Amino acid sequence: MLQYFVNIWDSVKTPLIGMRLTWRRLFTPAVTLQYPEERWELPPNSRMQLFVNMDDCIGCAQCERVCPVQCITIDTIKAVPDEVEETTTGHKKRLHVAKFDIDMAKCCYCDLCTFPCPTECIYMTPSFEDAAPDRFGLLYHFAQITPEKAAALSAKARTFDEAAEARKAAAQPAKAAAAD
Ligand code: SF4
Ligand code: SF4
Repeated sequence: MLQYFVNIWDSVKTPLIGMRLTWRRLFTPAVTLQYPEERWELPPNSRMQLFVNMDDCIGCAQCERVCPVQCITIDTIKAVPDEVEETTTGHKKRLHVAKFDIDMAKCCYCDLCTFPCPTECIYMTPSFEDAAPDRFGLLYHFAQITPEKAAALSAKARTFDEAAEARKAAAQPAKAAAAD
C-alpha cells in the first residue's frame, strides 16, 4: 500500500524536476532571434561572400596568384591604347577582364586575396546567405564582357600587335643602314 503512494509521489515529482529548467527559462528574457526578420550584428571584419567591383579591376591577377586554393580564375585581353580607361583610384586599365570567376564552393574565406589588390576592388561583403541548390550555383561570374565582345577585343588586340610588329620590321633595315 505504501509503495502505491510512493509511486504516485514519484510520478508527480519527476516531471516537476524535469520541468525545473523550463520554468526557470520561462521568466528570463529570450535570446533567440526571429531570423530572418532579425539578424545578429556581425563584427566589421567578418569574412563572408566576396565581391569584385569590375569597374575598378585592372586584371593584374594578384588576387588569383595569392589564393591558396586556386578558386579565382581570371582571363584578360590586352587593351589597345585608345581603349585604356582609368579606375576610380587612378590606375590605368590596360587589360580587359574577359573572365573573373570565383568558385565559392572552394573558397576558404581566408581573405588573402583582398590584401594585394592595388585598387581594393575585391572585398568581403556582409552577405552570408547565398546558398545554392548545387555547387555550380556557387561559381560566381563577375566579368561583364560577353564572349562575343571578348572575341572582338582579342581580334582588335591581335591586329594592333601585328601592325606594331610590321612597323618594327619595316624600321629594321633603316636602323641597320644608319648603323653602317
Ligand atoms: S578568400 Fe581566400 S580562398 Fe577565398 S578567394 Fe580569397 S584567397 Fe581564395
Ligand atoms: S588584384 Fe584586384 S585589380 Fe588585380 S585582378 Fe584581382 S581584383 Fe582585379
